[in-house]
Amino acid sequence: MNETATRVYAEIDLDAVRGNVRALRERAPRAAVMAVVKADAYGHGAEPCARAALDAGATWLGTATPEEALALRAAGIGGRIMCWLWTPGGPWREAVEADLDVSVSGLWALEEVRAAARASGRSARIQLKADTGLGRAGCQPADWADLVGAAVAAQAEGTVEVTGVWSHFACADEPGHPSIALQLAAFRDMLAYAEKEGVEPEVRHIANSPATLTLPESHFDLVRCGLAVYGVSPAPELGTPEQLGLRPAMTLKASVALVKDVPAGHGVSYGHHYVTGADTRLALIPAGYADGVPRHASGRGPVLLGGTVRRVAGRVAMDQFVVDLDGDDRVRVGDEAVLFGDARRCEPTAEDWAQAAHTIAYEIVTRIGSRVPRVYRNG
Ligand SMILES: *Cc1c(COP(=O)(O)O)cnc(C)c1O
Repeated sequence: MNETATRVYAEIDLDAVRGNVRALRERAPRAAVMAVVKADAYGHGAEPCARAALDAGATWLGTATPEEALALRAAGIGGRIMCWLWTPGGPWREAVEADLDVSVSGLWALEEVRAAARASGRSARIQLKADTGLGRAGCQPADWADLVGAAVAAQAEGTVEVTGVWSHFACADEPGHPSIALQLAAFRDMLAYAEKEGVEPEVRHIANSPATLTLPESHFDLVRCGLAVYGVSPAPELGTPEQLGLRPAMTLKASVALVKDVPAGHGVSYGHHYVTGADTRLALIPAGYADGVPRHASGRGPVLLGGTVRRVAGRVAMDQFVVDLDGDDRVRVGDEAVLFGDARRCEPTAEDWAQAAHTIAYEIVTRIGSRVPRVYRNG
């Protein structure tokens, strides 16, 4: 909330977050929306984004770690919060006492959550996670009967309540990928088995942002949206944020720290991977890979400066990089440079930086560093 931020800062438009949540609710009219606010809301700030998402009608919040979920509770955020990334010895008791919904992928986790529930004298809300093909967290189909059986027994003894059955896609960002239909079929099978055994899930869910945007049959009772809440497209194949009805919430801005003339043939930044082709003017942008500007975008990352989109000249360093102004004499020290924001304002986008760095837009926004102040608009 540093309003005097000048070096580099991320403006977060909470109206965009609210608008994106409303757009997602329209995309999934029969499902509840969980706003996934893990990793500090993908770099946007967990607490303000959680509040904005709830304002706009999200009824669940999701985090990866229990610590992230507990921090939301500590900030006074009520309602349903689910977290899914557990390790043995995790804060199960704190989670039970904070009324979190916790994911259980295996018997060890069920044992730990039962013990925590007994110790705290209350019943734990658990959601059984099925591995329908992602091959990451979740219970394999071959182990599902054991896990469901143990969960039903724990429910009978009153230590747990199974509130959800859920899974996660491997390739939802590639519409038509054959694994999608296979995962949906496996999910329906595993769900049907659990229901036959007496599980009555309040929510059944598998859809992330790309599935929410492209695959209505995946919506079930709840959609778990992360990246789309922040107005960023999950994959170029799905379209731009504008085409998806989303608006980017984060604009990464910096102030030009230095403008200077250099002669032709001058090397620029570490390794001299860029050499000026003519007498020219350079601008120094005081943001680097320690701030989350990807070094892999050296020589390619786009920056809006003086009304023109230019490229990083040479290497991105830890704290700064250089832009060749090609003789443009209008850019002044202190001018605003926009690294990414909204294409509707002719700004480069997080998707552009992802392409420049050969990565995904998820990584661009989540890696904006803690040294970069977040400045909130429309709170
Ligand atoms: C991060 C995450 C999501 C959100 O994914 P997006 O593609 O950002 O919408 C949903 N579910 C799980 C399990 C996740 O880890």
